[in-house]
Amino acid sequence: MDNGAAYGLAISFLNANGAFDDPVAAARWWAAAREGARETFLLDLDSPKPRFNAELSAELRALHAAAVEAFGSPGASTESAMAALSARLARGSLRLKGAPPALLFCASDGPGAVLFPLAHAVASLLAAGDKRLRRCASEACSAYFWDGTKNGSRRWCRLNCMERVRAPRRRLQR
Ligand SMILES: [Zn+2]
Repeated sequence: MDNGAAYGLAISFLNANGAFDDPVAAARWWAAAREGARETFLLDLDSPKPRFNAELSAELRALHAAAVEAFGSPGASTESAMAALSARLARGSLRLKGAPPALLFCASDGPGAVLFPLAHAVASLLAAGDKRLRRCASEACSAYFWDGTKNGSRRWCRLNCMERVRAPRRRLQR
């Protein structure tokens, strides 16, 4: 498993603009994100089940804003964002269980079963301080992505974005 996969959940959360506008959308996003990060997702140890309501949507919007802010402009003060992330890290705790041991989490309440693993994923990426996290060079996109290339030269989050930027240029050259 490369680091890009390990940080997949954090990166999709950073890119989840507008996904938490209402509880139904938030629940849908969470189900898909969990499924997508199945291999690296912290396993849940009997946490209370989350109920997706207006309150949890608002919590997710706040956590998302803090995550984006924490990865914001280099050198900018991110103290309040880090405090917001730390507060969500207090919504659960980590345990070791079994042989070979698995790292599991237990949330303190239903909302924590969503907020804790997301805050943990973002905090891990932040603490890793890895320079491989980039933003798409397409201005219309600017999604976060993981640059897994050997020389660290990837500029677009996906092929479509590269095509969109390059195609008009090619047309001009002809
Ligand atoms: Zn893009």
